[in-house]
Amino acid sequence: MQTAQNLPQTQMIVRYQHPNNEVYYGVVEGDEIKQLSNDFSEIAQDKLTFDGTTVKYENVHILAPVIPSKIINFGWTYAAHADETGGEANLKEPFLFLKPTTSLVPNDGDIILPPTDLTNQVELEGELALVIGKRGKNIKEEDAMDYVYGCTIFNDVTARDLTVRDPQFTRAKGFDTFGPLGPCIVKGLDPTNVRIVTTLNGEVVQDGNTNQMSFSMPFLISWISQVMTLEPGDILATGSPAGSCPMKSGDTVVVEIEHIGKLRNFVK
Ligand code: MG
Repeated sequence: MQTAQNLPQTQMIVRYQHPNNEVYYGVVEGDEIKQLSNDFSEIAQDKLTFDGTTVKYENVHILAPVIPSKIINFGWTYAAHADETGGEANLKEPFLFLKPTTSLVPNDGDIILPPTDLTNQVELEGELALVIGKRGKNIKEEDAMDYVYGCTIFNDVTARDLTVRDPQFTRAKGFDTFGPLGPCIVKGLDPTNVRIVTTLNGEVVQDGNTNQMSFSMPFLISWISQVMTLEPGDILATGSPAGSCPMKSGDTVVVEIEHIGKLRNFVK
């Protein structure tokens, strides 16, 4: 699958720990990162200041690309996934839940299965995530994409047995490490027609496209902004295509999105 490096109008931003232990943002160029002195709020305003350092991508520890004020998740936005999980396809209004920021893990981080007396069915959900670039409330649908800085990859790890048992999804979705995010933010990508492929131990289990969503991304942004103010760095996980399935200890899960890259995590 193509990465953003094939698209000249895009830019790949990563957050990483330098070998000197300091944390930086940088712009990926080939196998190198050009280091920035900015925080995300400055980057989101396109105020990029390069500090003159270049590091090899393979020599740094990639971190979750943002620490959002909230991780907003839309459920059952793909009819086939709603059908497979007992949800409602083609909803009239979006189905909404939040994940805590303590669920975040970076690319190559571990998804830690909770004790089996809490859940016996932890499943993967590969999703495209929008990263908000500026503060907004009551955003008009026609302006909505102006509030998006870029796109990244999210794995909406889910204790499926608890979504059935609990009246709402906080516990099922909120365990520590149930929110793999990254590895990079791609700016300048049209997210409305990109392929999402998830593999479990190398076997394809999800193969969808964001063009299968039952709500448009501008509608989702406008709709949620009537409820809560969106802040720079906030994550909007746009839902999972069909093929969600259980993971077990020892598994490797990779969510690949066209033009963004691969988010790989290890199940422990
Ligand atoms: Mg989901």
